[in-house]
Amino acid sequence: MLHVAVVGSGPSGVYTAQTLVQQDPDVRVDVLDRLPCPYGLVRYGVAPDHEKIKSLQGNLRSVLEHERIRFLGGVQAGEGGVPPARLRELYHAVVYCVGAATDRQLGIPGEALPGSWSATEFVSWYSAHPDAVAGGFVPGARSAAVIGVGNVAVDVTRMLARATPQLSPTDMPQAALTALAESKITEVHMVGRRGPSQARFTTKELRELGSLPDTEVVVDEAELALDPAYADPSGLPAAQRRNIEVLRGWAAAPPRGAPRRIRLRFFLRPVELLSDAGRVGAVRFERTLPDGAGGVTGSGRYEDIEAQLVLRSVGYRGVPLEGLPFDGTRGTVPHEAGRVLRDGAVSPGEYVAGWIKRGPTGVIGTNRPCAKETVTSLLEDAPGLVRHEVPEDALPALRADGLAPVDWSGWLAIERAEAELGVSLGRSVVKLPDWRSLMAAAHSGTS
Ligand code: NAP
Repeated sequence: MLHVAVVGSGPSGVYTAQTLVQQDPDVRVDVLDRLPCPYGLVRYGVAPDHEKIKSLQGNLRSVLEHERIRFLGGVQAGEGGVPPARLRELYHAVVYCVGAATDRQLGIPGEALPGSWSATEFVSWYSAHPDAVAGGFVPGARSAAVIGVGNVAVDVTRMLARATPQLSPTDMPQAALTALAESKITEVHMVGRRGPSQARFTTKELRELGSLPDTEVVVDEAELALDPAYADPSGLPAAQRRNIEVLRGWAAAPPRGAPRRIRLRFFLRPVELLSDAGRVGAVRFERTLPDGAGGVTGSGRYEDIEAQLVLRSVGYRGVPLEGLPFDGTRGTVPHEAGRVLRDGAVSPGEYVAGWIKRGPTGVIGTNRPCAKETVTSLLEDAPGLVRHEVPEDALPALRADGLAPVDWSGWLAIERAEAELGVSLGRSVVKLPDWRSLMAAAHSGTS
């Protein structure tokens, strides 16, 4: 038997475990996660109103219930937990699928003002991540600025514009639902530093903004026309061409006077967050112009957009895991076809997959080929790896190290507690939002 630990139970970790058991009948996989809950960003990143993508949890679940795969939650790898060197003693191979846990910075004055948050903080809050900050995003805000035009920017813009009746059937935590129900935000500005042909959102996600009740999308044709590809998008890849067509339609539509507006803006780069009585009150942008090579140059002209809430949605970033090498420039672990490189040489038995391997790009399905490449490397190396002696079962050793992993029955108990909470609130399933309630539920079910 080949004993493998997969660190991280998001899509890349689960696809790695699945590919391993599919390709090798003699492999056993422990999927470790620092949280007592599986599914990573599918549980804690996919927006609650995206029920179809959320339902992927059903597929991930059937993988984690495979007879040769075991989920062990509440196990942190690296600092404060199990060091990579210890994992190598316990398993023939370890695959790190730890994602990109933090956000990129803008590096402009005022970024840290109260009222300015990373989109990831906002996403964690409405997703009930147990490490999320308690709230305070929307009270007192009338206007919000979302910086960046990727799919996360679209998610947070949509969540700010959604009304309670559409959010109540989701599993979002009660405190976030109540806060959003009381929100007075009527203007959401989503702002890109480059043009519409370079926006990172996908057309399906973009189009959804136009179907929100009581909300209209406002686009200025003159701003779109700054993009040289706008007049004739025929040379663009199909996805960008479709985005332009959607934006063109909105620019041509007469105003409807809806209670809420999403204003999509382009060619504006943030230069400063401006304070109003110690909190953010506006964002100063510089008008940019295309430089002919896909980038932009500043024009020296500025525009202030009022915003009491600023969500910086400029991408995720990987964080170093103590004991593993890290490329600080790319925010990833150096690797060759998934094999971890230490000082340029392959480190036997250590692998990466997902965002910590390739950076925070692509949709959930992108993790399948990524996991496959890593598993191919691992199984090629397997004959050498099994010579390294490891315990028959790592669990007693982890327990002896002072860890108390949450097993699958602990996770099922969390699911039951979330269903019961939903019933008590007159909703369907409602997520438990904090460590205390998650661990209490998990321990009531851990065998
Ligand atoms: P992203 O797609 O990389 O978009 C980041 C955005 O931030 C870009 O518009 C980028 O503009 C902008 N940006 C970066 N630095 C900036 C700066 N200093 N000032 C102003 N703007 C800046 O990242 P993401 O939205 O976080 O998404 C991460 C991944 O998750 C993507 O692959 C995404 O598709 C995926 N995702 C998918 C879904 C879905 O399928 N529904 C939902 C959420 C996330 P430039 O292009 O000019 O750099």
